[in-house]
Amino acid sequence: MERKPVHVAMFSGGAASAYVAYKMVQTHGKENCVLFFTNTLWEDEDNYRFMDEIAEYIGIDITERVDGRTPEEVFYDVRFLGNSRMAKCSEELKVRQTILFLEELRDEENLEPILYFGIGPHEKHRADNLRDFYEHNPIEPIETRFPMIEIFQDDVDVKGIIENEWGIKLPRMYELGFSHANCAGRCVRGGFQHYAQLYKIWPDRYAEQEQMEEDFREHFEKNVSILKKDGKPFTLKEYREQMDKEGLEKFLKKQDDTVPCVCSFS
Ligand code: SF4
Repeated sequence: MERKPVHVAMFSGGAASAYVAYKMVQTHGKENCVLFFTNTLWEDEDNYRFMDEIAEYIGIDITERVDGRTPEEVFYDVRFLGNSRMAKCSEELKVRQTILFLEELRDEENLEPILYFGIGPHEKHRADNLRDFYEHNPIEPIETRFPMIEIFQDDVDVKGIIENEWGIKLPRMYELGFSHANCAGRCVRGGFQHYAQLYKIWPDRYAEQEQMEEDFREHFEKNVSILKKDGKPFTLKEYREQMDKEGLEKFLKKQDDTVPCVCSFS
């Protein structure tokens, strides 16, 4: 029997994915849609507030999947500290949970998932990577759609629409200046500027990350770190000391070339 399509919005807790989810439900009807979120247990509390308000506005419940481990617990399990180049937390807590969910839709409900992402035209290469991933990774290929690129040709002011037309305040991490709103500013793929921002806004959270890194190094007796400088380990402790010595401001302005994690879209 042919599977019935189900439209799945990959809800990251960001503005673009919220807008795409809204449009998807408008087009295909609530009964044929899923608002899907994978929880890393590291999210900022205001992201949950935003997601609940969006779900209520759209009129559809959030379907949440939780591995149950935090990114830190994943690092211990795989004996590898996530860093700006490789982060197993994303693979284990987001990608794996997503694939399991999609296979369940097919096997248990005889539904054919179509995935929707809130990626904009300026990030087209990420759309290509995701399309390629979902063509090859599940047992059978899964269709992916990118309405911000394929339908809304011009950059839509999604943040303005959500705040001014829908009356929903954006997650506070946007106005606090983080490059992305996932994992409460603690993303191991965030890079130098992101961590300088974390140190400025939430020094306690920075201290927790620093401690996590120190504990991991001690436990496995390995010289590893989340950030890398000139291809070598550079710990958050060293970075904090440098920021304290040279002044935080200059580190807030320095862009680095880290590749944002896929968690921003899934
Ligand atoms: S946002 Fe960053 S730290 Fe969080 S799960 Fe994704 S890659 Fe890991």
